[in-house]
Amino acid sequence: MGQEDKRITDVGVPNYEDYLPPIIKDNYGKWLYHEVIKPGVLLHVAESGDKLYSVRVGSPRLLSTDTIRDFANLAEKYCGGFLRFTTRNNIEFLLTDENNIDLLTKEINEMGFPVGGIDNTIGNVIHTQGWLHCHTSASDASGVVKAIMDELYDYFVNPLLPAKIRMAFACCINMCGSVATSDIALVAVHRKLPEINDEKLRNLCEIPTVVASCPVHAIRVVKRDDKTSVEIDKKLCFYCGNCYTVCPAMPLSDKNYDGLAIFVGGKISNTRTKPTFAKLAVPFLHNNPPRWPEVVDAVKTIVKAYKNGAQKGERVGEWIDRIGWPRFFEITGFEFTKYHIDDFRLSEATLNYSNHSTL
Ligand code: SF4
Ligand code: SF4
Repeated sequence: MGQEDKRITDVGVPNYEDYLPPIIKDNYGKWLYHEVIKPGVLLHVAESGDKLYSVRVGSPRLLSTDTIRDFANLAEKYCGGFLRFTTRNNIEFLLTDENNIDLLTKEINEMGFPVGGIDNTIGNVIHTQGWLHCHTSASDASGVVKAIMDELYDYFVNPLLPAKIRMAFACCINMCGSVATSDIALVAVHRKLPEINDEKLRNLCEIPTVVASCPVHAIRVVKRDDKTSVEIDKKLCFYCGNCYTVCPAMPLSDKNYDGLAIFVGGKISNTRTKPTFAKLAVPFLHNNPPRWPEVVDAVKTIVKAYKNGAQKGERVGEWIDRIGWPRFFEITGFEFTKYHIDDFRLSEATLNYSNHSTL
């Protein structure tokens, strides 16, 4: 089957080349440089001299069809119908006419959306489903992120920081967002064993599947009241919720035990220093909807300390490595606890692995 034939199929995602704006197709692989020309606007210049302007718009990730239609109409009006969604859930309008930048920005602002998230800003926060959608969530996602970014809005629209901050939120430790490698990472955690309802389990769940679902082999088959059920080894369980995903008879959410942990210092980039996983800063904060004030305060404390203490270009993790973790805890006022010591039996995976080369 030739390349053309392969595209005529209803299996899998369509070929991305069919959706590239003409200017990107024409200059594919031939871009010379890019620069930030104003907050939220990138200019890419190609070898041919062609110029592409990207206007980045923050989004709450969960968008109504009406809002998406409004964005599509703006793309029709200003960008030949082309826009793209970035991996951080920004909407990027791709313009070839510089004169349209301000007109587009004005209309976006009137819709109530900010332009920003480029350069030394806090970019759009990647987040997961939360209470709105996912059955294993230990916290909400959109609600917490909204509460945080309402307070830190200026950092999205203006480059006020020494370097960029990438923030992410996952509503359980399965971490559907890119939490492990973000500068500030919020991870919702359960802290209670799944409750087993024997009656429901027998009627609803396949016991071999339940046993196999546990990544740390904490589930065993047992007989209770002479009938087959399962038990959980509380020394092994780390409250991931996988068993609940395959068996609704084992819920683990609990409003008194669920909450959030905050990690800091992760990054994916290998610029200057190697990619790193984020490390624990705050082990637990209770859910306190609708505005999560304790979480918002903790994030603001980290941002403020980083802004005041980091050198230009230094990411959060690089700043902490330079000043040392004791100093980080001193400056932020966060308590250092036994939970900060990584003694998990699989912690080998969080140690110093990297393909970073200093050659
Ligand atoms: S992080 Fe966990 S709770 Fe949140 S969407 Fe993913 S699996 Fe669901
Ligand atoms: S919550 Fe996760 S670790 Fe605990 S028993 Fe269920 S699958 Fe295993």
